[in-house]
Amino acid sequence: MNLLEQNELLVKHLISVGALKTPRIIEAFKKTPRHLFIRKDYLNHAYDDIPLPTYNGQTISQPYTVAIMTEALNPKPGEKVLEIGAGSGYQAALIGKCVGVKGKVITIELESDLVEISRKNIKKVKLKNVIVICSDGKLGYLKEAPYDKCIITAACDEIPKKVIEQVKIGGRIVAPVNDFLGQKMLVIDKISDNEFKKQDLGSFVFVPLR
Ligand code: SAH
Repeated sequence: MNLLEQNELLVKHLISVGALKTPRIIEAFKKTPRHLFIRKDYLNHAYDDIPLPTYNGQTISQPYTVAIMTEALNPKPGEKVLEIGAGSGYQAALIGKCVGVKGKVITIELESDLVEISRKNIKKVKLKNVIVICSDGKLGYLKEAPYDKCIITAACDEIPKKVIEQVKIGGRIVAPVNDFLGQKMLVIDKISDNEFKKQDLGSFVFVPLR
């Protein structure tokens, strides 16, 4: 089976376990083959539903987790999305596909090597609406604010204040927040500047936000 066929199988699997539901998001997964974001030495495992190493102890998340987070974020055409933790660029590319040419994704990465790697990977899927910035995601990215939505792909003790400020009222943040079990996946809707609606999607495991 070639790699693209393996991607189709992974998508089928993610649908069958209930992680993928929305047609637009399913299409994005089909058009964003995960093997293009995987280190050469792990290519054999590109379509296993497991996290894999990227560089310097960091990882590309498990496809199941990426699917759950993308569905929770529900990125729509034309939206501007902030991601914290670009890593391989896979999650950012998926969101880039969902928001389309009228939308934009700003993804922030602390490790300069991963900034280079994610830029190169994102080029492979020909996305021009995804921009990788080398910076500390805890500061958000004021230059492009406000954002319709924000996704944090590293474990945080709390959602950084600057990030909350840079999301529009009516916007959404999806983030794994530390608790005693590892991390709980929170979906936070910003109702007003000081009013939030919280949903807990359960336990997940992430590398820490530094
Ligand atoms: N979304 C990625 C996986 C992210 S793993 C993907 O699709 O592959 C978490 C990433 O967050 C790591 O690459 C790590 O280097 C980065 N990171 C950790 N702390 C950070 C911070 N303060 N600002 C920006 N990136 C950070």
